[in-house]
Amino acid sequence: MLEKKRKFCIDSVIEEFEELTEDAGKVQRETLKKILQENGKAEYLQELGLGDRTDVESFRARVPLVTHEDLEPYIQRIADGDHSPLLTGKPITSISLSSGTTQGKPKFVPFNEELVQSTMQIYTTSFAFRNRAYPIGNGKALQFIYGSKQFKTKGGLTATTATTNVYRSKQFKHTMKDIQSQCCSPDEVIFGPDFHQSLYCHLLCGLIYSNEVQFVFSTFAHSIVHAFRTFEHVWEDLCTDIREGVLSSRITVPSIRAAVSRLLRPNPQLADEIYNKCMSLSSWYGVIPELWPNAKYVYGIMTGSMEPYLKKLRHYAGDLPLMSADYGASEGWIAANVEPELPPEKATFAVLPNIGYFEFIPLREKPGDQGLDNVGSNYRYKELEPVGLAEVKLGEEYEMVVTSFAGLYRYRLGDVVRIAGFHNSTPKLQFVCRRSLILSINMDKNTEKDLQIAVEEASKLVAAEKLEVVDFSSHVDMSSDPGHYVIFWELSGEAREDVLNSCSDCLDRAFVDPGYTGQRKVQAIGPLELRIVQKGTFQKILDHYLSLGGALSQFKTPRCVGISNSKVLQILCSNVVGSYFSSAYD
Ligand code: AMP
Repeated sequence: MLEKKRKFCIDSVIEEFEELTEDAGKVQRETLKKILQENGKAEYLQELGLGDRTDVESFRARVPLVTHEDLEPYIQRIADGDHSPLLTGKPITSISLSSGTTQGKPKFVPFNEELVQSTMQIYTTSFAFRNRAYPIGNGKALQFIYGSKQFKTKGGLTATTATTNVYRSKQFKHTMKDIQSQCCSPDEVIFGPDFHQSLYCHLLCGLIYSNEVQFVFSTFAHSIVHAFRTFEHVWEDLCTDIREGVLSSRITVPSIRAAVSRLLRPNPQLADEIYNKCMSLSSWYGVIPELWPNAKYVYGIMTGSMEPYLKKLRHYAGDLPLMSADYGASEGWIAANVEPELPPEKATFAVLPNIGYFEFIPLREKPGDQGLDNVGSNYRYKELEPVGLAEVKLGEEYEMVVTSFAGLYRYRLGDVVRIAGFHNSTPKLQFVCRRSLILSINMDKNTEKDLQIAVEEASKLVAAEKLEVVDFSSHVDMSSDPGHYVIFWELSGEAREDVLNSCSDCLDRAFVDPGYTGQRKVQAIGPLELRIVQKGTFQKILDHYLSLGGALSQFKTPRCVGISNSKVLQILCSNVVGSYFSSAYD
């Protein structure tokens, strides 16, 4: 029955997607019209004098490009309880907290039913394509998903992370149950108040249902790596729980205890099996297929700031394929991965032209130009007028601009994407980086991607010593004169001093942007400093975000920490155990 239902859904979803992308430009115009018809009476659009106009030309002429900051006064009024139509025709009834790992604190974003709908459309679209390539059977999914705390804003609106809003929705449960696979863990685990306990129980429930698990999932790949790093420490306790049928005393939250205890029976045979399998593994290589023999793939967002975790994820996944999940943000979904066969490094995302109106600001590097652009934190690119989805060009890079059904109009998301191809007429995007994340002192301009490449290069030196970079971040230190780059590394073990000195030289040389190398040569930028932090430091950063109301599901390690993010900077600096200055340009 389920098989039949699934097949029917999949075929119709693919058919619908093919139709939608046939003339994506036309669908975009219709989508904008619909958004403006629904929300034209909103104060924001009225103030801009849009009147009843719903065409692309009037919209672009009257509505300015904005950032979150520009909309903040409106969003704040909504959060404070102003029920008049401010950004949308129908009042907004809940608020999402974006991960805010860039700015250091979560941002408020309007959330409504339409966002749930588009999330489901994205999920079912990519699932349809994935299942065509890698069919799963009936069963369960080991999902490392976590709801975050909910709270009420001053005006009484529920505020929580977008993923929590989605996980709590009926549609999500329905889609998961009927079409994909149900989570092994009960809701009490997903929405538990203590994520350490939830994580332990996700692992335990996954083991209880080990033969039924069809795939392993988390929203962002970081959570899967984090889960298995934890597994390395708690696997024996998990075996004991299964052997004795009694939940570990570390689980203290009554609702979690009750829900998970209901699933536990003494099962010495399963416990022995797991124990023996774990013992047979060499440094946990292939632990996922070993313990979940019917899993077909590992699934989650693996692109952008998740790329540094791929190596470790591949290690745990052994020969199981890794599939990168879709592209979107708390502000709204954008595109689905319809080419699941591609490795995460090559993943593309096909834009769904009916879930929002999308514009693209062309970004061109200014060859040899050291001058600064006039916009915000953007030093690297020359900007041009935004173009529509039907006008983007293959191979070019753009900043994403989103107009949504939830009250954001021409909103700069801050992400840079590259056009990797087209599915029918809709572009397939490759995620390049977040634009604001940039190391810059004067003439130098380095993005998150540049930092990632440098760390990858230098980490080869520690890999030769059988060590790994567990996580990393960076900071521009202007307290010295001249200022210099600081790279923070947490390592899996202790490295020799000479190796770390070579690493800092290597990092310094790996930033090849001419602005940086030129300034380094004349010592207008000081020697790069590699600071090694104690084991567990990045866990403290994660705990800090969770304490602010963030969710593990949406966590992205801050890759560049400014002084405005003082708490994280303080966590990093107070855990430094060694500091190594580069002599690359001496
Ligand atoms: P949040 O602020 O928690 O809503 O996270 C949204 C941000 O996560 C986006 O603006 C992107 O920078 C990043 N993101 C979302 N999906 C992907 C993806 N598939 N690949 C890379 N980065 C992504």
